[in-house]
Amino acid sequence: METKDLYKVLGVSKGASQEEIRRSYRKLARKYHPDANPDNHDAENRFKEIQHAYEILSNPEKRREYDEGPRTFFGSQGTGRGGPGGAGFGGFSDLSDLFGSFGGLGDIFERSGRNRGASLKGEDVTLSVNLKFNDALNGVTTRVTVSVEEECGSCRGTGAAAGTVSRRCPECGGRGVRSRDQGFFALSEPCPRCGGEGAIIEKPCATCGGSGTVRKARQVTVKIPAGAKDGMKIRVAGRGNAGRNGGSPGDLYVVTRVQEHPVFKRRGDDFVVEVPISFVEAALGAEIEVPRPEGGTVKLKLPPGTQDGKQFKVRGGGAPKARTRGTERGDLIVQVSLVVPKKLKRREREILEALAEEREENVREELFKKVGS
Ligand SMILES: [Zn+2]
Ligand SMILES: [Zn+2]
Repeated sequence: METKDLYKVLGVSKGASQEEIRRSYRKLARKYHPDANPDNHDAENRFKEIQHAYEILSNPEKRREYDEGPRTFFGSQGTGRGGPGGAGFGGFSDLSDLFGSFGGLGDIFERSGRNRGASLKGEDVTLSVNLKFNDALNGVTTRVTVSVEEECGSCRGTGAAAGTVSRRCPECGGRGVRSRDQGFFALSEPCPRCGGEGAIIEKPCATCGGSGTVRKARQVTVKIPAGAKDGMKIRVAGRGNAGRNGGSPGDLYVVTRVQEHPVFKRRGDDFVVEVPISFVEAALGAEIEVPRPEGGTVKLKLPPGTQDGKQFKVRGGGAPKARTRGTERGDLIVQVSLVVPKKLKRREREILEALAEEREENVREELFKKVGS
């Protein structure tokens, strides 16, 4: 097998997190899955590479070995036939597995090739929370209701009714997968008899129906940092789905949806506000008051001769930088827009006419010079 950079195969950087690796893998596997690319050899080979790369990089121990000495490690790896534990092509057989709804960021391998005995980390759960402009700006502690899978208390996650036990599946011998030849290579699919569990429950638990898990609505307190942006992802460790067989729970990710303000537009940690000024203020210069995002006003000095569209920076008038726990702030960017009177009273017109006479200016002189006429 050629020594290809496994990170490149999955399109991730060397420092990629397990989550990034998993996400990238799922995206690529979907794209190059043989079922989605019938009779396409290139796609098939790509798919094998992707599977192989994921098999190694998704396993922290194998990944470390690979990072330390890729060549020797590669030598000991075949193209990988599916089997439990070393799931070369293990895991799934059809697109529904990849497209299926997971309710979180579930691992394909964990889901379809799982074994009742193995301890598995719970899946992460993602939900979004709507925030008022001011709450996002000042920070807020909010409660969200999360629907999570928890271990069934009646059967302690075994899925078997009280007093009964599950027995090893005779079809797959407890492996949870069976191989299916597909011409060029074999695909593993979840055992149809036991549904990939590796065990058969004679009498399912009445509470959970044999799944071993129950869904519960749980209240979770989430602290939104001051200056939270729209689309910010806040991790609440351990509040996702419960793990199986002693595995740790997944995490909860709360994605912020911040209400738009009619006046203040967010740009990074800055806010931009358009402020009208009169043409007299622009010409003479003025000290004006501009509104601040958190309420109140701040004074801004316009120099004489301020041009339309000019931007001024009010330092520290922006949003608290959520990353630095609000000790630093962005700026307030004031963009002025000239207001020209639509109607003039007689005296006003006379004053302006006198001004025009006084200035005798031709503001288009430069323009025509450039045109060359
Ligand atoms: Zn149960
Ligand atoms: Zn089975």
